[in-house]
Amino acid sequence: MRKAIFPGSFDPLTLGHLDIIKRSIPLFDEIIIAIGVNAEKKYMFSLEERKQFIEETFKDEPSVSVITYEGLTIDLCKKHHAAFILRGLRNPADFEFEKAIAHTNRRLSKIETIFLLTAASTSFISSSIVRDVIRNGGDYKVLVPEAVRIK
Ligand code: ADP
Repeated sequence: MRKAIFPGSFDPLTLGHLDIIKRSIPLFDEIIIAIGVNAEKKYMFSLEERKQFIEETFKDEPSVSVITYEGLTIDLCKKHHAAFILRGLRNPADFEFEKAIAHTNRRLSKIETIFLLTAASTSFISSSIVRDVIRNGGDYKVLVPEAVRIK
C-alpha cells in the first residue's frame, strides 16, 4: 500500500496546497495531511481551525485524512507505516530548502520524498501572502479553498 504524509503548517490551506493534494490522490492509496506543531511559531489560525479547513475541503475524499503532530516527520512516517513524504515545489528557493531536508531524511531513514511541481496558476500563492492579505482586509477568498473562512 502506497501511503504518503504531506507535512506542513497549512496556516491556512491555500489553492496551492489543494492543487498538490488533488494531483497526489491518484498516485497514493492513502494521503495523511500532517499539520506540524512548532511551539516557537506564531500562527494566525488555531490548530483546530487549520484542521477543520482541511477536513471540510477533503470530506468527500476517503483516501485523505488529517492529523497534527510534533517532532520529526520521519518518526511520524514510521509510526503510520508511510514510505513517502510529499512536498510541493514552487521555485528554486523551495528546491534548495527541500533538498537539504530530503537528503537529511534519507540519511536518517529509508523514507523517500516525492516532489510535485506546482501548477503554474497557483505557484505564486503562499500561506504567508494569504495571511498578509487577510491582515490588510484584502479579498483572500480568491487564494484559498471555500472552506477557509474567517469567523
Ligand atoms: P511549511 O511551513 O512546512 O513550509 P506550508 O504549509 O507553507 O508549510 O507548506 C507545506 C507544503 O506545501 C510545502 O511542500 C510547500 O512547498 C507546499 N506549498 C505551499 N504553497 C504551495 C503552492 N502555492 N503550490 C504548491 N505547493 C505549495
